[in-house]
Amino acid sequence: MKKILVVDHEPFSRTVLQDILGGEYQVFAAATGAEAMALARRQTPDLILLDLDTPEDDRAALCTRLKETQTTRYIPLILLSSCSQKQEILDGFYAGADDYLTKPLCASETLARIDAHLRTRDDFADLEKEDLLMLLELSEIISVTRNPKRILAIIVEKVAAALKVSRCSVIALNDTGELMVKASSDLPPNLEIKIDLEKYPEIEKAWRTQRPVVLQDIHRDPLMAPVRMRLQGLPDQAILVVPIIKKQNVIGTFFLRTAAIGSGGISGRVFTLCQLVANISGNALENGIVFEAMQSKKKLLEELAFRDSLTGLYNHQHFHTRFEEEFSRAQRYALPLSCVFADIDGFKTINDRFGHITGDVVLKQIGRRIERMLRKSDLAARYGGEEFAVLLPNTTEQGARDFADRLRTEIGALAIQQLKGERVSISVGAATWQDGNTTTYTQLLHLADNAMYVEKQAKKGQGR
Ligand code: GH3
Ligand code: MG
Ligand code: MG
Repeated sequence: MKKILVVDHEPFSRTVLQDILGGEYQVFAAATGAEAMALARRQTPDLILLDLDTPEDDRAALCTRLKETQTTRYIPLILLSSCSQKQEILDGFYAGADDYLTKPLCASETLARIDAHLRTRDDFADLEKEDLLMLLELSEIISVTRNPKRILAIIVEKVAAALKVSRCSVIALNDTGELMVKASSDLPPNLEIKIDLEKYPEIEKAWRTQRPVVLQDIHRDPLMAPVRMRLQGLPDQAILVVPIIKKQNVIGTFFLRTAAIGSGGISGRVFTLCQLVANISGNALENGIVFEAMQSKKKLLEELAFRDSLTGLYNHQHFHTRFEEEFSRAQRYALPLSCVFADIDGFKTINDRFGHITGDVVLKQIGRRIERMLRKSDLAARYGGEEFAVLLPNTTEQGARDFADRLRTEIGALAIQQLKGERVSISVGAATWQDGNTTTYTQLLHLADNAMYVEKQAKKGQGR
């Protein structure tokens, strides 16, 4: 069992740490610097946790003596601090500390960090003081920045500058399962781009294995064989991908591309630093995911309020809102705007003969067919029980007439299984705003409704 020495003059804190660590490590606790030094010599712990609230004299003396003593020099030293002790943390780093944790401690984070230090103990020897200072600076920025996107942008920028690499980026899945570059040192902030996992076998591997992937020579590594063409001419040689793991799931990757090993490559220092930065990025990314999920839920709820629950088309109310907007846009830019109205013929009879449920199926299928006929800027609504309305921005009278004819034909051709071979027909009317022929959108709406009514009456006159 590995040994951990806790130095904290607060009895309560010592108990908390004993609780957190006791299951996995053999814990020794000291209340003063002198006690700690004695224990460190006798037990040679694998790691030391030092609380910054320990009186300063004790603390400084302990750091100095630990680093001056041969047997204790390389024991990782983690500072425990409250957020307000920035100067003390800096002093601690100058005195040889390797990392710090903020109080109140989160048990899982504490264990994870300790584990990381125990595992990468040798690598830590590679870390330079500037790296630790950069990590500290990043932690500080993160604690005051609300926007997760901004945090990721700062992280990649700082790491790229500190390690002098060509590209440093954070990649994550968005909520529709697409892989996105969330931030990259060679992209403007706020720009996200989609990438194809097939083109990045190294990212795919890190994702799948949940382990870092280190490639010192991407032009020769067999992993990159399928994408060798894409790499041609790329001056970079080395790639490091560190998976960002939260609650046992990979939620993203931290990606680094750099020059040949001779001029740096992926050294122990780069590797260790990126592991630590990946942890930090994980928090920002997780917050970002929650943030985005909330945004898209909000959007979804708003959308639902605009939609008709049976057909999924926009509802009467939203149609009016959008019509009014489109109408003023048409007026402002002197663009034509058309409105098409459609009403199912003899729908009452359909309900009576086939039942209300089949009536609903008919409404749904008509709605779906209408939707499939629309261009991106068009908008369809279920205007009433068996009435549909379509807005066609930037569409002339002729365009609207063509649309109305197609609509009549398409609906007339719909084969709805439940209707046992019978077809549905609709009456359609269209109207177009052009050159100020109406002054309000409701006038235009009535014109379309009237046109539909004229057609309906004509059909009835012919006994259809
Ligand atoms: P016309 O040819 O003159 O248009 O006659 P119609 O029967 O289509 O029109 P009418 O306005 O007389 O009747 C419309 C019917 O649509 C009456 C109503 O029960 C039915 N309806 C309205 N909303 C729904 C619905 O959500 N589902 C079903 N199945 N029927 C509905
Ligand atoms: Mg009707
Ligand atoms: Mg009808």
